[in-house]
Amino acid sequence: MSPFLSSKKPPEPEAARASLELLYDVSRELTSALELRTVLQRVLFLSMKTVGASTGTLIVLDDNYLPVESAMISGDVVTNQSTQRLRMTIEKGLAGWVIRNRQAALIFDTSQDERWVHQQYDEDSKNTPKSAVSAPLMVRDQLVGVITLVHSQVHFFMQDHLALVKAIADQSGIAVLNARLYAESQHQAQLMKALAESATAITATLKLDDVLQRILAQISRALRVEAVSLGLIDHEKDELVFHAAIGWKTLPDDKARVRLGQGVAGWVASDGHGMIIPDVHIDACFDPETDRRTGLKTHSIACAPIRDADQVIGVLEAINPADGGFETDALLMLTGIGSMAGTAIRHAQLFERLQAAHKSYRDLFDDSIDPIFITDWRGNIVQVNRRAVTITDYSKETLRGMSIFQLHATDVDQLGARFEKLASNETYSYESLLRTRSKHDLPIEVHVNQVFLEGVSHIRWIFRDITERKNLDTLREDLIAMIYHDMRAPLANVVSSLDVLNTLLETSGDSGLISLLSIALRSTERIQRLINSLLDIKRLEAGQPLGNRVLMMPNDLLNDAAETVIPVAANKQQTITVSPALRQFPVFVDGEMVRRVLINLLENAVKYTYTAGKIEVGCECNEEWVKFWVQDNGPGIPASEHERVFDKFTRLPNKDSQKGLGLGLAYCKLAVQGHSGRIWVESQPGTGSRFQFTLPTAQPENGDEHV
Ligand code: ADP
Repeated sequence: MSPFLSSKKPPEPEAARASLELLYDVSRELTSALELRTVLQRVLFLSMKTVGASTGTLIVLDDNYLPVESAMISGDVVTNQSTQRLRMTIEKGLAGWVIRNRQAALIFDTSQDERWVHQQYDEDSKNTPKSAVSAPLMVRDQLVGVITLVHSQVHFFMQDHLALVKAIADQSGIAVLNARLYAESQHQAQLMKALAESATAITATLKLDDVLQRILAQISRALRVEAVSLGLIDHEKDELVFHAAIGWKTLPDDKARVRLGQGVAGWVASDGHGMIIPDVHIDACFDPETDRRTGLKTHSIACAPIRDADQVIGVLEAINPADGGFETDALLMLTGIGSMAGTAIRHAQLFERLQAAHKSYRDLFDDSIDPIFITDWRGNIVQVNRRAVTITDYSKETLRGMSIFQLHATDVDQLGARFEKLASNETYSYESLLRTRSKHDLPIEVHVNQVFLEGVSHIRWIFRDITERKNLDTLREDLIAMIYHDMRAPLANVVSSLDVLNTLLETSGDSGLISLLSIALRSTERIQRLINSLLDIKRLEAGQPLGNRVLMMPNDLLNDAAETVIPVAANKQQTITVSPALRQFPVFVDGEMVRRVLINLLENAVKYTYTAGKIEVGCECNEEWVKFWVQDNGPGIPASEHERVFDKFTRLPNKDSQKGLGLGLAYCKLAVQGHSGRIWVESQPGTGSRFQFTLPTAQPENGDEHV
């Protein structure tokens, strides 16, 4: 038996003194301890001793009047009460009545008092009548606990006992509150420390698998549970996918998926609020599937959402705490880790994605079929891809010690002497020769632009090997040269013979033969024009000056060209309208050349305009310039091709599959530019095309002869 306890009633006259002594003892006991449980036990012991109780309970309440700590002494044995039992006491027992009414209560005979009726926990002496006294612990108006003392005899406790217990309750309220607040702050500090430790551990790596494992390890350590698992939400399938687990008896695999809303984890994932289920067998939320998934026998489970910013991205699930039940702050801890975990997981996922993107860019760079060189702004090579190594025949290391100038001659006009033009972020292209290790020169097309590597500005050089294209160009040109050199002389003979024949036939008056002959004549003249144009292209490209320049009137050129093409247009039921200049000035030109330019433009208009199309050719003059134009109502040319159609061998897709070499407009451009003029096209698809060119008028003082 405890030395404190006595079953004697204090003698009446000594009551006041005992009361004073007691209060003195209580305050001495209270000031010497701060730890909540110790404070409670001391207060309870003193009280029981003073009033001679056989059983005592002291319950501490939080701000919501829920029990946070308790002490129970039965005889001289200190016992622990389960949270559930405490709740029951508060809901149904005498202590509950005292809490609700904030009043002390004295029960002479518990068997005669309703307030005692529902008391169920007193298993030792179930229905034996007892006497009891209970008082609230108050600090100002705040209720902080309740003390209940019981004696096994009815009518043992009297009013003076009640007064004593009230005095103790009043005296100890503040100490109990202080101890509770101290305990809370201690707890909070521990929680914060544990969370801070977890944060340090979780964020110490960026590898996703490591991050997940560390999160689980931290929970397992903080909550001391049999198993922990982590599931992330798959939004496409509305499922929770378990990515990592500690303590599962089965391995998480593809089957470890739970539908959102299903079971505890699925519910927390969709609802976003954590929960503790102390006993899964009496909770409808628990899904037996959990046991199949984990291979465990679940008793209790705590589950909290993993949040990234405000979004729930997964859940943390802790199963079966080692101590039998989860502590009150287990959910707080789990939720805290869940919040940190979200950010850590997102960072790790972003890092993984970044690494994957980095790798795929690296692969693209390395596997490119074109050699690529990265240099600094002085041209020193800092990085090369595989193709750069094979094409140059230098090793990667050697190339890294070289300068881009050792490999090819840069185009200073385009890039600037110090590459200053590249700062505009545009890509510049030019042709050059790549000098390989074996001093072999490969024709290349170079594409250069500025790139940023890890935030630092560099220059990227893509060398496209154009050996094949160059070979083909040479082949084509050789072929053309061969054709026109070998055809020119015999064709001239055919044309002059046909001319003679024409003169002879005109006198015979045979109209059928005459028309046949004029067809043959026109066709041969066309071939002759083509060959001459080809020859001119070569000459003009080589920069040779124009010969045979004479003064000519623009309208003569216009009419001559139109006359040549009108019969061809007539075959397609097309009309050619001629609009000569009203006031004209002479031009100083190679007449045959300019005539061919006009014929080319007109023939194109006829060729690309549909049957029965309308074509107009005209010119207008001022004292400085003559402008010729050929307008059709054919298919038109997209703006992106307006420049390109004047390049050699450029042909656009056309509906009628018209054949051609793609040299006509290239010739026109060279011929017009050779005369210091300009040529261009104005057109939009579907609205026809208008080709125009200008030539300078002849200046009177040069004294050339007027034709
Ligand atoms: P070719 O007629 O032999 O193809 P050109 O150099 O004369 O070569 O013309 C280049 C391309 O420009 C043609 O293939 C055609 O696609 C386009 N083109 C030229 N004139 C016209 C036009 N009047 N209307 C529409 N497209 C045209």
